[in-house]
Amino acid sequence: MLVAQRVNDFVTSHPPNALCDRCICDAMNFNSHAHSAQITGALGTTSDFERLRGICNVCKEERVVIRCMKG
Ligand SMILES: [Zn+2]
Repeated sequence: MLVAQRVNDFVTSHPPNALCDRCICDAMNFNSHAHSAQITGALGTTSDFERLRGICNVCKEERVVIRCMKG
């Protein structure tokens, strides 16, 4: 849960908060993209976040991104 909380904080601190798994992986120093995908996938099932295809706020590539629905 600690790692998920870090990802949660990272996404919410990057308005407009659309971040791809790859950039989250790089920022969190995860060993694999699968790890970040697993966490963003879990966060995406909560009402606070949504996962959708869009432009990542960091790398500007069109990918599956996660975005915070709060605020
Ligand atoms: Zn990105």
